[in-house]
Amino acid sequence: MSARILYGKEFAATIKESARLEVEKLKATFGVTPGLSVIIVGENPASKVYVRNKHKTCEELGIVSEVVALPEDASKETLLAKIDELNANPNVHGILVQLPLPAAIKAHSDEILNRIDPRKDVDGFHPVNVGKLVLGTPALVPCTPAGCIELLDLAGIEIDGKRAVIIGRSNIVGKPLFHLLLARHATVTVCHTHTKNLADVAREADILVAASGKAGLVTADMIKPGATVLDVGINRVAPKKLVGDVDFDAAVDVAGAITPVPGGIGLLTVAMLMKNVVKAARLQLEA
Ligand code: NAD
Repeated sequence: MSARILYGKEFAATIKESARLEVEKLKATFGVTPGLSVIIVGENPASKVYVRNKHKTCEELGIVSEVVALPEDASKETLLAKIDELNANPNVHGILVQLPLPAAIKAHSDEILNRIDPRKDVDGFHPVNVGKLVLGTPALVPCTPAGCIELLDLAGIEIDGKRAVIIGRSNIVGKPLFHLLLARHATVTVCHTHTKNLADVAREADILVAASGKAGLVTADMIKPGATVLDVGINRVAPKKLVGDVDFDAAVDVAGAITPVPGGIGLLTVAMLMKNVVKAARLQLEA
């Protein structure tokens, strides 16, 4: 039997439309248009594409978008000063620093990200927001894991009481998703490079999330028949070919539902960013 394919496009459209309506409500209630500032340092081509995409989506939804492009050799001090300026600007409700930073300042990534006012931290990476997520009082949650939950909800896939297995324990995807699934009453296991018998653990999952960044890591025999498979991985295997972590062609015959790559979770990430910007704006305006 072939799985239901969960295309990101339709779910992303729903999320973006609700963000657009929220922009209109904020304008009508407070006379304020939500604003996002994205800082990009250097010339990383993939980062430039991501930033352009965020800017374009903001424009579509009526969010004021500013891209602050700093040169490759920008110092840590320059970046911190820019963040301070944006923190103090009441027209800017969301700030994000596009990662990765250039090699010369990469080691300072934490210090730089932690300088963002937690109320404007629309990536949800600030320790204050991480702490709130762990405590179960989230404000701004990282966009990709939040997108996974939103997709499950919009697709009508039950989380409560299910066995969820996440492959990957990064601060950006695996760990926040663990807390989000736990908060929704799933029983969650997080796997990583030291996990023994990965296939056996994966096969227990009703909801299997692959976020390892390893093309083809998840094979069909690792999937419980009928399970929901969310493929977060984005791996470039040829100049113009992207694949996920899951062997999609084989998995589609075993899973009950599955996200494709490209065209799956990736599309939800930008939509969730928009949702975070309007959420941040409302929190600031109501404070
Ligand atoms: P990361 O490299 O920081 O973390 C990868 C995790 O996978 C690690 O915890 C590691 O222990 C685990 N892992 C790696 N190989 C493994 C193996 N063989 N067995 C078990 N565990 C293994 O990566 P990340 O930032 O979390 O991103 C993961 C993937 O998701 C990447 O492909 C990335 O491009 C993609 N990603 C996509 C989006 C999106 O918008 N869809 C957003 C963020 C990341």
